[in-house]
Amino acid sequence: MLEVIQLSKKYGNTLAADKIDFAVPDGKIGILLGPNGAGKSTVIKSIAGLLRYKGMIRIQGKDARSLEAKKSFAYVPELPYMYDALTVSEHLEFITRAYGVEVSENQRKELLERFELTDKQEKLGSELSKGMMQKVSICCALITKPKVILLDEPMVGLDPAAIKELKNVLAKLREDGCTILISTHMLEMVKEFWDVTFVMEKGQILGTYAKENLANEDLEELYFSVTEQGVQSGQEGR
Ligand code: ATP
Repeated sequence: MLEVIQLSKKYGNTLAADKIDFAVPDGKIGILLGPNGAGKSTVIKSIAGLLRYKGMIRIQGKDARSLEAKKSFAYVPELPYMYDALTVSEHLEFITRAYGVEVSENQRKELLERFELTDKQEKLGSELSKGMMQKVSICCALITKPKVILLDEPMVGLDPAAIKELKNVLAKLREDGCTILISTHMLEMVKEFWDVTFVMEKGQILGTYAKENLANEDLEELYFSVTEQGVQSGQEGR
């Protein structure tokens, strides 16, 4: 479970997150939506521990800043970061050692095959295309067997096969009880599998919408109705 409680973040005089509250339960996919500048990245970077903030963020009930929370959490940033001098294989090895997770050779192979990286294993970080880097970044997150995973615009730069595979992987993770939060503008890509959506604007959550409570599950319509006309019916609470 991921809980964000009264999260506030100021950059100088700009209040980028204003007492944000939301939670994604176990086995659910949450989507963070909002126009440019709404504060999504600020929320995501706060959860990922990259910013100082006011408020509380809990991962599996633990303070997100604690080592215990970090061990059960994985983050796929919007812009993948690779070590130039490490190969794809070495990236995976580095991450598994850092997290102290046991990964069998079969699990490792299967993951690389899923994302069509088997023949790229010995390529250096500096030799990868942007899409390949994104795939490696996703594999590095998945190989840690996270209980909570945060993905910032994960489909950007991926080819159709990788998008399909990522969707399959996320569906399987949800089935296994993993908590997933995705920040995206690509509503088309997530429309089939979201469970709860948080619509943000100007540093605030305008509404929290659970799919099971909505008569119309069209994410695009929901997004425009909320951001263009303010809070609509179907809202669960702020
Ligand atoms: P986008 O969809 O364009 O990525 P976003 O919803 O992720 O936008 P944020 O990047 O969180 O929005 O920005 C929220 C607000 O905080 C904006 O007004 C932005 O200008 C401001 N902001 C973000 N980062 C900084 C920073 N490092 N310094 C100053 N202001 C910032």
